[in-house]
Amino acid sequence: MSTVESGKVVLFHYTLTDDEGTVLDSSHTHGDPMPYLHGAQNIVPGLEAKMDGRAIGDKFTADVSPEEGYGEHNGMTPQPVPRSEFPPDAPLKAGMQLMAQMDDGQGMPVWIASVEDDTVHIDINHPLAGKVLHFDVEITGIRDATEEEVAHGHPHGPGGAHHH
Ligand code: ZN
Repeated sequence: MSTVESGKVVLFHYTLTDDEGTVLDSSHTHGDPMPYLHGAQNIVPGLEAKMDGRAIGDKFTADVSPEEGYGEHNGMTPQPVPRSEFPPDAPLKAGMQLMAQMDDGQGMPVWIASVEDDTVHIDINHPLAGKVLHFDVEITGIRDATEEEVAHGHPHGPGGAHHH
């Protein structure tokens, strides 16, 4: 029987809650279980570590600290950016991730905190930064990754990161 290890594509259902028990995200609202490539850092490190060695049908909970989740909140508040600096047809929404171009040419992930009239508020913190994450997990599938998936570092096919 196959278990979760590096080079396996794992499918799992999850419900993510915060310390207050508020549901932050759930695969059940999307319908299909979420696929990821184990060992490729597709999911937060604290959850990936708890997946190791599991089998299909396993159900477990994982409490993940900010250090092993989406990082500590660095205290910076969202910064206002004029709407005119974005493409006119860009569907800007709160929670959306963007790639900011730094002066040195490097890309840095940022998130839209809110959109109001002509101003977009940009946060360099992940929306879940600083939060302890509580995952309720059920593993529904495990298969060998293809060579292409290993090369890309993410799963392909139905529910995968993208199609080629
Ligand atoms: Zn790919």
